[in-house]
Amino acid sequence: MTRSASRKGGTYSRCPSCSAPLITQWVGDTAALKVSTDGTPLTPAEQAAVRTPNRLIWCLKSSAHTTPRLTWIHSTHPADCPHAHVTDHQCPPAEPTTLF
Ligand SMILES: [Zn+2]
Ligand SMILES: [Zn+2]
Repeated sequence: MTRSASRKGGTYSRCPSCSAPLITQWVGDTAALKVSTDGTPLTPAEQAAVRTPNRLIWCLKSSAHTTPRLTWIHSTHPADCPHAHVTDHQCPPAEPTTLF
């Protein structure tokens, strides 16, 4: 195990439940909140569709030289933002299994 020094950056991982690609990052002044977002950027239409009070949109600022950083998109955000936008990861409904 290597301890990454990039406490402020996001890391790519996979959801332990549905194995979807995720970006996880500790956010907040005290890094108190761990965020997991989908690794797939949203289209503007998808952003509008998922944007509810319960679901946040994150701006993924990344470049070839830096680790990705998730920034919570507040009410004001440039419409022509060049970065990818992602949303909180929610596992898809589980496949029907033999629960019963
Ligand atoms: Zn943005
Ligand atoms: Zn999942």
